[in-house]
Amino acid sequence: MIQIKVKDLSFSYSGFRALQDISFEAGAGDMLAIIGQNGSGKSTLLKCISRILKINTGHIEIGNISLSALSASKLSRIVAYIPQSTDSISGINVFDTVLLGRKPYIHSRPAPAFTNAAPEDMELVSRLLTRLELDEVAMRNLNTLSGGQQQRVFIARALAQQPSILLLDEPIANLDINHQMKVMKLLRQLTQEGILVIITIHDINMAARFCNKALMLKQGRIFASGMQSVYTPENIENLYDIQVDILRHNDCICIIPQ
Ligand code: ADP
Ligand code: MG
Repeated sequence: MIQIKVKDLSFSYSGFRALQDISFEAGAGDMLAIIGQNGSGKSTLLKCISRILKINTGHIEIGNISLSALSASKLSRIVAYIPQSTDSISGINVFDTVLLGRKPYIHSRPAPAFTNAAPEDMELVSRLLTRLELDEVAMRNLNTLSGGQQQRVFIARALAQQPSILLLDEPIANLDINHQMKVMKLLRQLTQEGILVIITIHDINMAARFCNKALMLKQGRIFASGMQSVYTPENIENLYDIQVDILRHNDCICIIPQ
């Protein structure tokens, strides 16, 4: 069962301290929401966990192994990261895009993943396309798809890595409410299958409804963290520097700025 432990993490962009004293733990089956204002460090934290950025101080341990000790291919078999804007949308089709997620497993063979794939790679991709409702667009170019379809392709590609930890930067930011629900339900299903899902998200209502844990970032520091009980009016007002009314309905909260 995978576990991530972050201890006293700090990160600076050439002198600008973007994250400071970040410590938290999460494990298989958790769905952790990172929330906070624009610029609070959410994306930076995901990039540190995926090792796109190298932390200055502190530790990140994944399954009791230091993140810095993992080889690149081992890391990509454990952690899959879906950035906020994937503007590297090339001209290749959906099937081959998802197949690229198999690269960590077939990297020993030179040349692109889609010329080296084994039958089991192809079968896994087919299963993922069906699961993500992408069968009908499998041969279409990625850049001809809607935003919702593209997001599902990127999730499928990440799942082709068979990761234990899935990181998504604002996965529902550009989706209509129907597709937002579909993505959030899928992510919850993945947690039930034992994957640790960590997302950044602006919609606190969705975070409270789907994520069992929350990390509130304010100016690069953890302002509050924990389970559902962190969504207090005081925390939310303080986090966003606004006055709010909060309505509660079952497991949903609805924030109304004053
Ligand atoms: P969030 O995702 O919460 O909006 P970010 O992690 O993107 O926040 O950014 C945190 C802070 O780091 C912001 O002040 C932002 O301006 C700064 N920052 C982000 N990326 C860079 C970069 N490449 N170079 C310098 N500063 C950056
Ligand atoms: Mg961001």
